[in-house]
Amino acid sequence: MFDLVIRGATLPDGREGIDIAIRGDRIADLGPGLAGEAGSEIDATGCLVTPPFVDAHFHMDSNLSYGKPRTNQSGTLLEGIALWGELKPLLTQEEIVERALRYCDWAVGQGLLAIRSHVDICDDRLLAVDALLDVRERVKSYLDLQLVAFPQDGYLRAPNAAANLERALDKGVDVIGGIPHLERTIADGAASIRALCGIAAERGLMVDMHCDESDDAMSRHVETLAYETQRLGLNGRVTGSHLTSMHSMDNYYVSKLIPLLAEAELRVVANPLINITLQGRHDSYPKRRGMTRVPELMAAGLVVAFGQDCVMDPWYPLGTADMLDAASMGLHVAQMTGQDAMRRCFMAVTENPATILGLDGYGIAPGCYADLVVLQARDPVDAIRRRARRLQVLRRGRVIAKTAPLATELDLPGRGARVDYDLS
Ligand SMILES: [Zn+2]
Repeated sequence: MFDLVIRGATLPDGREGIDIAIRGDRIADLGPGLAGEAGSEIDATGCLVTPPFVDAHFHMDSNLSYGKPRTNQSGTLLEGIALWGELKPLLTQEEIVERALRYCDWAVGQGLLAIRSHVDICDDRLLAVDALLDVRERVKSYLDLQLVAFPQDGYLRAPNAAANLERALDKGVDVIGGIPHLERTIADGAASIRALCGIAAERGLMVDMHCDESDDAMSRHVETLAYETQRLGLNGRVTGSHLTSMHSMDNYYVSKLIPLLAEAELRVVANPLINITLQGRHDSYPKRRGMTRVPELMAAGLVVAFGQDCVMDPWYPLGTADMLDAASMGLHVAQMTGQDAMRRCFMAVTENPATILGLDGYGIAPGCYADLVVLQARDPVDAIRRRARRLQVLRRGRVIAKTAPLATELDLPGRGARVDYDLS
């Protein structure tokens, strides 16, 4: 006897007509035409059923604050940081909690059930840390929220950042962040990486740094990040986020760099939505694309994810918690239009970020958590193309969100009345 069986699913790996049987909070069995009684059934015939979307790079403390206290006029990263600096003293803990919970609701509706969020620790009050620790606890039954202690104004450059980072970790923040390209000098950037990776080794924590988020071809902190990862034996536990300077680096240097990143098993998160708008602002034409070398990093065996980064905040005015937006933009910017390449873009918002976060029990196989999303799409490529609706979202075997399928009623002269199902 199963609690629930999802019938006729198409899986991300291409298997069709698969039944997924759930007992308690786990997948109990999986295969075509499964026999056995079920407490209830979901008909997913012809629909893609996938493990949930995962966002490996987000900022929950600034999200949904767009326009406060004003909008970003230049569209640059640096004006965004300055604007956030104006907003920070005006924040209250209650207001951060309210915005974060609202975003988590959106996320669940979109089948996004795990988020790694950076949290700025440069405000001595650590308001955002307390707020997001509270949110992490409140949402944990339906969403995994992992927090990164992020020294937004520079670990060495901002007064008290080093002490605040330790305080944030003591309070229970999960991961160590950094921003070496914002330190005063290249040498300070390298020193910040050394210090932060040292703390990670000491405390047994993961690292996720904003790294080389710049158009400067000489911004090469990722080399130091990979070196420190190897030196301290942190292989597989360190993530380089953004790495946009790699788009402008000399090709010969990159031919040496990528194997070094692979040796360190560095994880990579590109944030295509925001970086296609933030980068290249000092270019006239030709304008650079502002994203790291995603297909080349994947080809070298690195685990690469696409993150959302920001939604309606000082850096980015749009966004709906839809990871298919990030996959689509990444696919376009990286020109990953081959069939295999498009499927890798889907993996970059599902299983790759799950690996980066170190999520337990993620996947579609017996023994995995019954965390699943039923999409109005035939396969992963179709899902990206249509930003497919999430018909049902399950967490630990229970349906926690439903959306009606999209269907447009047409009544056209000479064509008659009919229903068109969402561009299929
Ligand atoms: Zn970020």
